[in-house]
Amino acid sequence: MSDAGIVDLLVIGGGINGAGIARDAAGRGLSVLLVEQDDLACATSNWSSKLVHGGLRYLEQYEFRLVREALEEREVLLRAAPHLVHPLRFVLPHSPDMRPFWFLRLGVWIYDRLGQRVSLPGGASVRFPDPELSAGLKAGLQRGLSYFDCRVDDARLTVINAMGAREKGATIRTRTRFVSARREAGVWRAELEDASTGSREAVRARAIVNAAGPWVMRALEGIDHQPSPARIRLVKGSHIVVPRIHGLDHAYTLQNPDKRIVFVIPYERNFSLIGTTDVPVETPESARDISGEETAYLLESVNRWLASPLKEADIVWSYAGVRPLYDDGSDNPSAITRDYTLVVEDEGGCAPALNVFGGKITTFRCLAESVLEKLGPYFPGMRAPWTAHEPLPGGETEFFEGFTYEFTDRLPKIKEPYLVGLIGRHGTRVREVVGDATSPADLGRDFGAGLTAREIDYLVDHEWARTGEDVLWRRTKCGLHLNTAERSAVSEYVAARIGH
Ligand SMILES: Cc1cc2nc3c(=O)[nH]c(=O)nc-3n(C[C@H](O)[C@H](O)[C@H](O)COP(=O)(O)OP(=O)(O)OC[C@H]3O[C@@H](n4cnc5c(N)ncnc54)[C@H](O)[C@@H]3O)c2cc1C
Repeated sequence: MSDAGIVDLLVIGGGINGAGIARDAAGRGLSVLLVEQDDLACATSNWSSKLVHGGLRYLEQYEFRLVREALEEREVLLRAAPHLVHPLRFVLPHSPDMRPFWFLRLGVWIYDRLGQRVSLPGGASVRFPDPELSAGLKAGLQRGLSYFDCRVDDARLTVINAMGAREKGATIRTRTRFVSARREAGVWRAELEDASTGSREAVRARAIVNAAGPWVMRALEGIDHQPSPARIRLVKGSHIVVPRIHGLDHAYTLQNPDKRIVFVIPYERNFSLIGTTDVPVETPESARDISGEETAYLLESVNRWLASPLKEADIVWSYAGVRPLYDDGSDNPSAITRDYTLVVEDEGGCAPALNVFGGKITTFRCLAESVLEKLGPYFPGMRAPWTAHEPLPGGETEFFEGFTYEFTDRLPKIKEPYLVGLIGRHGTRVREVVGDATSPADLGRDFGAGLTAREIDYLVDHEWARTGEDVLWRRTKCGLHLNTAERSAVSEYVAARIGH
């Protein structure tokens, strides 16, 4: 809190956009309070396809501004968080009854030229069969294209943004719901609710940013101002996870007769992530789980291309999320713009409220910069943009291969995939996680899949983890590798650790 108990900025929502805005604003010298009603990344920012990508498909919708920004952002995020963002090759097989080859080739050509590429390789044609690039695909395919994008751990990207915000002075309060706000003498008076106890308190803020994602309209209803002309469309998207379809590192972009595409992405060492769908929904709550139709759709889509068709019984996990898309009036849910719109209004030049509509994981940092630019006139002393060249927590430039060797030397008895997983999660901050440990025993109880008591303690103490779910499905994805009893053991440990 700044002078007189008034914060400069109250940010509603601890998804990627809220966390990114809080970090950017705090680094520009604003006092920031972010409130998240549940856990960080508990909603859309944990349920994406986990790609930092330009979106080849959006070229068909002439979304050149968005695609350019997103393509360039790949390089920025590769530098800022090299432990969480990794280059990923995509192979797009061609089929004569779908888009013509020249059209796909043109798309990849434009993709390569629209945004500046520094480290990522360009696209290329591929002849099938290819011992590597058609692994797992059915016989008879003639050719395809390859291009590069990146993959990311979306939930961890959100958490490290929140950590970055805190390191710049922001206050992050999870399990705290924004209830309402009204203007009083040129500042906002907002009511917040503790989600565990239900107790309420008031805070004052010079500006509010509503980054509540799928709940943006609901939060807007609680903000005392003119109704916004902008609207969102809620479009559900689901994924299934199956045992790894091939042992190589590339992903597939598979076309569907309905003109949509479905990705098959290497995931969590042993699995393939398959998605997604586009289903309009009325409320975020109505889209918690994948439906039978979506499962059938995804299986049918990939089975058109795979050598060994997948069955429902192969599915080991699934998840569903809701895209909070800016309503551009499009009839087709997969054609609604993935770009973002920011709507700001104030009262006599004071107490602005800015609402975020739409956005992507990929463009969160640019979105945050745009938010701060719009708020610039209300905070004349605010510092210049800074996030393009600053590493995120754990992504400091010393994070290179040598860094991994330091830990393989120090902790030789930890199985390599677990060590890689640990470093992958925390980057350079792994030093804080493992402290002076030199053997697995120093890391405390082993819960399986490389998750130890020492890491859980760190997640509770430094990353706002409060429940087993926070640890198993957001701070890590160890939930996918553990059985029910092992997951319960983690939940019990977390509960005991925080004194519940
Ligand atoms: C299926 C699917 C696939 C996708 N794939 C990709 C992809 O591969 N790459 C990509 O770049 N993008 C992708 N996206 C888009 C991306 O995931 C979203 O644009 C992004 O996560 C939205 O972030 P957000 O912060 O706006 O919303 P959220 O992550 O939903 O965060 C909003 C937060 O606000 C909180 N909140 C709501 N109301 C209140 C309140 N009253 N008080 C306090 N807190 C509140 C919620 O609990 C929530 O945590 C995908 C989306 C979906 C659904």
